[in-house]
Amino acid sequence: MALSAARFHWQAVPFSHLAECTTAAVAIGSNLGDRGGHVVAALVALASLPRTDLIARSRVVETEALVLPGQPRGGAYLNAAAIVRTRLSARELLGQFQAIERGRGRDRASEPGRWLPRTLDLDLLLYGDGVINEPGLIVPHPRMHERRFVLGPLAEVAADWRIPGLNRTAADLLADLGGQA
Ligand code: ATP
Ligand code: CA
Ligand code: CA
Repeated sequence: MALSAARFHWQAVPFSHLAECTTAAVAIGSNLGDRGGHVVAALVALASLPRTDLIARSRVVETEALVLPGQPRGGAYLNAAAIVRTRLSARELLGQFQAIERGRGRDRASEPGRWLPRTLDLDLLLYGDGVINEPGLIVPHPRMHERRFVLGPLAEVAADWRIPGLNRTAADLLADLGGQA
């Protein structure tokens, strides 16, 4: 009886519980509303994700917003980076990030263009040594290497992380940017 109960329990464990633990890097940004509150709430939410531990967070930096030609410049961003250990897949993580964004009032349906002001933006920068190129999910994040506001916080918590496909660490990439903004 005990044995069959144990076997049933084992079979009932969702496959994702058996998945490998992966270290992932997350970029956090906010330039609308209570920016500090959104960043702190994002860290709390990341720490509360299922099958996930928050293991590091950077300091928060303030950065002028990116802007596209013809669009007004939004307010300055607060940016930070976080490192998690997770058994979620990259796709599951992205889904969780978008739920956290919604929880802070972000409504993608009301964003007619790119890089518009938003309460919270969570990007999956790195997922172990994974290289993912699927519809709606590209890892490493394709623009991370050109962004000081991403690389600065990331280098603070994961300076030696070698970016898959680039063979450069986060600290190397930050140094590559030199004096440019
Ligand atoms: P950027 O990607 O240049 O930082 P953004 O964060 O403003 O711009 P969003 O509007 O938040 O872009 O997201 C656009 C799409 O990017 C999302 O629908 C998402 O599916 C996709 N995406 C692809 N790869 C990633 C990733 N690694 N992290 C987050 N979103 C990603
Ligand atoms: Ca982004
Ligand atoms: Ca995003």
